[in-house]
Amino acid sequence: MPADYSASLFFLTNPNAPTSLLYSKSTVESFVNKFNGVVLIDEAYVDFAKESCMDLALSNKNVLVARTLSKSYSLAGIRLGYCVGNVELIGAMYKIKDSYNVNYLTQEIARVAILDQDTMKANVQAIVETRKLVTKQLVEFGFEVAESETNFLWVKPSKISAQSLFEVLKKKKIFVRYFGDDLRTKDYLRITIGTAPEMFQLLDVLAEVLSDGK
Ligand SMILES: *Cc1c(COP(=O)(O)O)cnc(C)c1O
Repeated sequence: MPADYSASLFFLTNPNAPTSLLYSKSTVESFVNKFNGVVLIDEAYVDFAKESCMDLALSNKNVLVARTLSKSYSLAGIRLGYCVGNVELIGAMYKIKDSYNVNYLTQEIARVAILDQDTMKANVQAIVETRKLVTKQLVEFGFEVAESETNFLWVKPSKISAQSLFEVLKKKKIFVRYFGDDLRTKDYLRITIGTAPEMFQLLDVLAEVLSDGK
């Protein structure tokens, strides 16, 4: 990663969306050491990854790590995220924080959820297993599949364009994401890992569509 940006704040989503890829902690560490400003590492997907950069927020003066309960805890409905960093950086954020706090029910649900790591880990484990299975099948279908460290897959279909496949799936009420005709994204789809039955339904439809030669 180059570090010669003349920016005072750098947002790094790691693991990344929508590519699903993870920069290793050592790569991120050498980047934050070279970068002059503050690096905010968005770890929304980190519980699905093999490594986290939380240590860097605890040991480096210019690093913040942001997390959310919306993904691995399946608690998007409570809308809670948090940020970890040294006293000065967190203090600076308090200066611009809204005076009204996160509501009490949200705080209580978050507290209970964070204390119950077993439930979160079981949730993650199930998604990671399904991710592995779907990846294998998509590769057999001839898709290119990025090595996901998240709860979704970044895939390049074969035999059919990403856009056409998106349309076909939508007609069958299966919703994946297509990011439009930007050169970097036009050949790819982002497929969120749902429940196993949902994913089997997707795989069945794909088998059917691909065998039609559409
Ligand atoms: C989901 C997500 C967040 C946090 O979302 P909230 O639901 O608002 O907590 C942050 N960054 C990325 C990249 C995400 O995917």
